[in-house]
Amino acid sequence: MKETLQQIRSLQDVNRKLERLQHDAEMLTVDVRNQERLVRQKKRQAEQAHQQRLQAAKEADATQLKIEEAEQEIAHLIVQLNMARHQRELDAVQGGILSHRADIQKWEDEGLAALQSVDELTKEEERLAEEVRQAEGELARVKDEVAARRAEQERLVAELTAERERIRRQVRPAVLSAYDRLTGRHRSGALAAIKGRVCQGCFTRVTKQTENLLMRGEEIVYCHSCGRMLMLAGNEALPE
Ligand SMILES: [Zn+2]
Repeated sequence: MKETLQQIRSLQDVNRKLERLQHDAEMLTVDVRNQERLVRQKKRQAEQAHQQRLQAAKEADATQLKIEEAEQEIAHLIVQLNMARHQRELDAVQGGILSHRADIQKWEDEGLAALQSVDELTKEEERLAEEVRQAEGELARVKDEVAARRAEQERLVAELTAERERIRRQVRPAVLSAYDRLTGRHRSGALAAIKGRVCQGCFTRVTKQTENLLMRGEEIVYCHSCGRMLMLAGNEALPE
């Protein structure tokens, strides 16, 4: 019976290791996804800066165009000024010139601000492009690392699966099916230790009779409360 419990203990260990590997494999996928998200975020920021720069350049061009038009208007008005015969006509033309000059002054300020924005956004774009390159480099590195770790995990899973089959072939069918049933029911495992007459699976105190049965070691003893297979503490095959 001690040997059967040893086998069950080993089976439980192997199952736990396989579960951990499954969890690790999921974590690896998360690492890649997080880095992919970062790359997408950086690209979005770079694209935003690019669009803003195009917009600022367009504004600078539009302002320049308005200035040129106003300068042409002024040139026309200067011709009119030279041909003006009456003071009223003269005043009107001079007023027009002044108004255009005021506009030009305003647009020059706006154009300058737009050009400064273009400069700043160009630098921002370069900085973000560098960040995208770095994030993509890191993503490639993470993917390589994950691929290597995944290969190692797959090797371990194959090894443990073979080990599990080897143990299962040794366990008596009735015990094995009881173990499988309990494994499906208890996430922490089918086998629990008894310490100080307390089941370590459900922390219920077991009867003296149960303890005696365990000590005799002639049959598989189950916890009356949670139904797990029991092993005495002090047994070297004890699960933690
Ligand atoms: Zn129990």
